[in-house]
Amino acid sequence: MSMKKKITLLIISCILTMAALAAIQGYFIYNTYKLEEKEARSLITQKLLDIETSGKLDEINKAWMKKTGNFIIDYTNNRASRIDYPELIKKTSDSLSPIMSKYIREKCLVEDYDVTYSNYVTLVRIEGSNLKEADILYSGKLRLFSNNTDNVDEVKASESRWRQSTTDVCSDVAPYDFEVVTSRYYSITNWQQKVLFKMLGLLLFSVFLFALVIGLFYWSIKNLITQKKIADIKTDFINNITHEFQTPLAALDIAVKMLKKKNDGLSEEHFNNSLSIIDRQNNRMQKLFVQVSDASVSPENIITANAEKLEREEIQQIISDFSLSRPQVSINFTADTAATVFIDKFHLATILNNLLDNAVKYGADIIDVSLEDNISNTELRVKDNGRGIAKRDRQAVFEKFFRVDKGNVHTTKGLGLGLFYVKQIVTAYGGEIAVTGEEGKGSIFTIVLPTA
Ligand code: ADP
Repeated sequence: MSMKKKITLLIISCILTMAALAAIQGYFIYNTYKLEEKEARSLITQKLLDIETSGKLDEINKAWMKKTGNFIIDYTNNRASRIDYPELIKKTSDSLSPIMSKYIREKCLVEDYDVTYSNYVTLVRIEGSNLKEADILYSGKLRLFSNNTDNVDEVKASESRWRQSTTDVCSDVAPYDFEVVTSRYYSITNWQQKVLFKMLGLLLFSVFLFALVIGLFYWSIKNLITQKKIADIKTDFINNITHEFQTPLAALDIAVKMLKKKNDGLSEEHFNNSLSIIDRQNNRMQKLFVQVSDASVSPENIITANAEKLEREEIQQIISDFSLSRPQVSINFTADTAATVFIDKFHLATILNNLLDNAVKYGADIIDVSLEDNISNTELRVKDNGRGIAKRDRQAVFEKFFRVDKGNVHTTKGLGLGLFYVKQIVTAYGGEIAVTGEEGKGSIFTIVLPTA
């Protein structure tokens, strides 16, 4: 499996693992929420029951039970009909509810929950020795008292059964037993906020852990990709350097074989030819060595002590020397009259030769060099009409060993060290270098150097 596939696989499995972890964590948090909810509900139910069975409510309950008893006496004596009962309870409710609301506000502080509470009559049953079977006076849901009138999502908390006899209310009436069932309902309006707020610490901690794990994953994968890049660059470099040495070595081989033929009547012309081949290839190999050894420099160990004010003529000279070896390329040079560059002459030549060499190598036949004088710095610009550099590579071309033609060593030769070295020199002088241009149409290298 290729490295790229491995990394993709790793990323996919990381994402899947994260998703699974998120699901598990979500499940736990949901469970905790449910548990908190259950706990809060039982607490509130208990509290309401306590309120119901103590003090004030006792009086209130006695009051409406007495009214119910009186009504049953009227009812069993045919002085009232069953449809009048809800009317009676409604009237009672209207007078009881405000008292009740006040009372609940005072008593029912369950950890800041906004509790609404209602009590309903759900069943009234009358029994008596002269009745064949129990008479259901009322069955349904009649509001008895409440601190909330439009309660939508109320939950039933508990039920109470009240038993009395008509003789408890009035001594000289026919004895009927009656039972009233009441149901208590409650709801908590700020319910979700409260529970979520209680769980805030847990939630935040979960989010934090999650972010941490994602961060770690991201960091590891990024590291892995960097490692792979470095490994690729190394392989490329070895391929390139092998290729770079192969050509001069082959040429030297031919030249030496030629010189060995000396006794078989080697012509003067062939002799000189071979010598110049040896000379050229030797030079070329030396240049390669310099490049490779320059690869380990950093701006701190480039000696800038020999910097001097160089004028336009100096640049013109370097360009002219370069032009001699490339007669097919036209190089124009323009400069502000007063423009100077503060740099070591040798370094300036290295920079310009590298940039010009690259321009030709990567397809240019017209090059414009310009020198511009700004207030605190000098801008040296090399513009070519070569193949240009893609936007995404514009930062990377200054990195050590970076080449756009990766692996494909045969189109153009190079080790990917030239621009790296140029950048090191520019940085050593406190300057900056950048490349712009248009892919397919040319590049513009701009160097900004501070004036001394
Ligand atoms: P080398 O030329 O040895 O590959 P450099 O460091 O000089 O190394 O350049 C790095 C890469 O930048 C080159 O491989 C090439 O792809 C790209 N490059 C440099 N100069 C130019 C240019 N003038 N036009 C187009 N591409 C360039």
